[in-house]
Amino acid sequence: MAKEKFTGVKGMNDMLPQDAAVWQHVQSTCVGVLERYGYQEIRTPILENTRVFTRGVGEVTDIVEKEMYSFVDSMNGDQLTLRPECTSAVVRAVNEHNLLYGTNQRLWYFGPMFRHERPQRGRYRQFYQLGAEALGMEGPDVDAEMIMMLSRMWKALGVGPVKLELNTLGALEERQAHRDALIRYFEQNQDVLDEDAKRRLYTNPLRILDTKNPEMQDLVNAAPRLLDFLGEKSRGFLSRLEELVSAAGIEYTINPRLVRGLDYYNHTVFEWITDRLGAQGTICGGGRYDPLVEMLGGRPAPGVGFAMGIERVIELLREVGQVPVSTQTDVYVIHHGGDTQKDALLLAEAMRDADVRVIVHPGEGSIKSQMKKADASGAEYAVFATADELAQGKVAVKCLREHAAEVPFAQQTLVDVADAPTAVAQAIAAVRAL
Ligand code: ATP
Ligand code: MG
Repeated sequence: MAKEKFTGVKGMNDMLPQDAAVWQHVQSTCVGVLERYGYQEIRTPILENTRVFTRGVGEVTDIVEKEMYSFVDSMNGDQLTLRPECTSAVVRAVNEHNLLYGTNQRLWYFGPMFRHERPQRGRYRQFYQLGAEALGMEGPDVDAEMIMMLSRMWKALGVGPVKLELNTLGALEERQAHRDALIRYFEQNQDVLDEDAKRRLYTNPLRILDTKNPEMQDLVNAAPRLLDFLGEKSRGFLSRLEELVSAAGIEYTINPRLVRGLDYYNHTVFEWITDRLGAQGTICGGGRYDPLVEMLGGRPAPGVGFAMGIERVIELLREVGQVPVSTQTDVYVIHHGGDTQKDALLLAEAMRDADVRVIVHPGEGSIKSQMKKADASGAEYAVFATADELAQGKVAVKCLREHAAEVPFAQQTLVDVADAPTAVAQAIAAVRAL
């Protein structure tokens, strides 16, 4: 009978052990920066009631119209959705637990999101976002600080130059006036509109500006600009934001066509873009969403946030050659089985007490075959808990790597068993300092 082969779900990736170091590096670097700005972690479930997203993201969006993994819970008939983004879920949780009662919140999250898109480079059906939400603060100082925080993250990660694009969506009434003008403009150009645009003409004409259809680019480029409909307050918000971002030495361009995928934004919207990843060059998007907290049932409170796509950030790190090499083993312990195996296990425990990362050879085997395993493990040192040496109360230590001459134990050396953990820990420290 043919063996059944199992594969992962299309568009959903395994993170393999050889990539663990870069994933951990990205997360810990970003979290280190977030903590310097007073952000705290929040974790919400991967499943939410579908309404959280239809209400929170908006009915007339790509996400809700065609990208959500939704299903009925067969146990009780609940309508559930695998989260396509996390802002709505975070706001749901903040409201449910009254986290804005008499205070503000600065929150970050990290985790998988799910969207039923056509898989391609930088676009997957399960992908990871790291994001943050600043809730209860009006801005634009908070928006500016968020952009400074992101700029600091790019530097800390070493992603190389990324471009910041800024825009404003103004306030509701301004968007309405602009919307009317847009509808009139697109009505006069019906023949150039594609299917998506026709469908959105009366539901969400702003989103037509976001089209990726090359045949509509001239049309949208000449469309009425929201910037021309802004009142004094919205203009003031944007110019103060620009002033603060400039003062921090961060370069940006105003992109009047930047409207972003989600419905709940007002005032500030921004994206960070690289030209090194082809079509999927946006590594981070964000903006202000003052209506959202109330839309999801809370007492009105303003908010601003961002989400970065981790796969794209990692791909960019590979492009610029900034991927950390992963070393996962310091020491490989070789032994002769029997009692020497017991001594090997105990010696390994003592080395781990000294923070050394140790693999003990599993089972038994010739010294030669164990040496091969030691080498393949990437360990810096082999420790030989072998019968003759242990009989004298000693083990042998040997550096396995090319730089042996520059660190202790270049030659195989006998060390008292009791001294070995400290001696090995010092040798590992010397390797790290190279
Ligand atoms: P796009 O225009 O590329 O579809 P979006 O506007 O849908 O992006 P957001 O909802 O703002 O994206 O998500 C924030 C970030 O998450 C994006 O800038 C991107 O880096 C990442 N991202 C979004 N969708 C995907 C996906 N399907 N696969 C991988 N990363 C994604
Ligand atoms: Mg999208």
